[in-house]
Amino acid sequence: MHELSMAEAIVNTVLDVAKKNNATEIMEVTIEIGQLTMLNHEQLKFLLDVLSEDTLLEKSEIIIEDVPVEIKCKNCEFTGLANTDNSDHYLIIVLCPQCGKKDLEILKGRECNVKTIKIEKSDEDA
Ligand SMILES: [Zn+2]
Repeated sequence: MHELSMAEAIVNTVLDVAKKNNATEIMEVTIEIGQLTMLNHEQLKFLLDVLSEDTLLEKSEIIIEDVPVEIKCKNCEFTGLANTDNSDHYLIIVLCPQCGKKDLEILKGRECNVKTIKIEKSDEDA
């Protein structure tokens, strides 16, 4: 499942960073999810909750940020936010808002990154 492998990768990344920084607790994690990844946010959040159990992530707040699709049109050179039609939940149609063509370069919208992690460190390091 798409969401499960993503959730596992996110949890591993966050725990790895926390460990390297001697974190005693993870307060907050912000994750950027591009619209084109087609990841279901609800499902991803649920899986993150499950995978966080008994880890430093257990009590942290997980924020998921949606990254809209940005394109560069190869037809009319338009650069910016694309027109997206995701009424069909299995496919997002990306179009140039200026000329309506589909011949585009995708600049943004494929992200699945851990953007920020807020941690609590032990007093010994302070
Ligand atoms: Zn165009």
